[in-house]
Amino acid sequence: MKKLLATISILALFSCSTKTKIIGIQPYGDIDSKVLDAMTEILKTSYQTQVYVLDRKELPQEAFINIKSPRYRADSLLIDLKKQCPDSIDYIIGITSKDISTTKRNTNGDIKTPESKYSDWGIFGLGYKPGKSCVVSTFRIKNVEASLFKSRLQKISVHEIGHNMGLDHCKTEKCVMQDAVESINTVDVANFELCPNCHHKI
Ligand SMILES: [Zn+2]
Ligand SMILES: [Zn+2]
Repeated sequence: MKKLLATISILALFSCSTKTKIIGIQPYGDIDSKVLDAMTEILKTSYQTQVYVLDRKELPQEAFINIKSPRYRADSLLIDLKKQCPDSIDYIIGITSKDISTTKRNTNGDIKTPESKYSDWGIFGLGYKPGKSCVVSTFRIKNVEASLFKSRLQKISVHEIGHNMGLDHCKTEKCVMQDAVESINTVDVANFELCPNCHHKI
């Protein structure tokens, strides 16, 4: 009997760890169906997940800020996404065409200097590590040809969900989890995939 119980619990653990994860895409405002399709496609293939597009909603007004220009605070959006995420969804990724920002800090927690530059810093995306929610903005990656726009969108989406799944920034050259170090060029030269080392961790 003991042996049977042990077998059952091992099976239960196994089935739990191999359960297909579900990602929900939350469109904030009107998002082109091509954008949603590109995200769905890359998230499905990169993480072997099921991906669903949720009903669109408006950006929460409490996330709005206008220090240097009109933006939405990404940190507030992560909280908003997490709050409304259905239990059936493991990770939720918000997508907006508006500019999003965060406060860039050093490892000791202080705002990076010059403070006027980094207290409200425009970004491509942000994700909790580990966590349930992340957000991507198309604001800083648009105005390029369609194929380049699509690859940027897909890489940033894979990167932010990677953070949700617990991945840190990676030093492997061209790994999609590399820190963009404030440049879109890092994104443009990166692969679409996680490097084997990152892949092994999820
Ligand atoms: Zn990152
Ligand atoms: Zn890596």
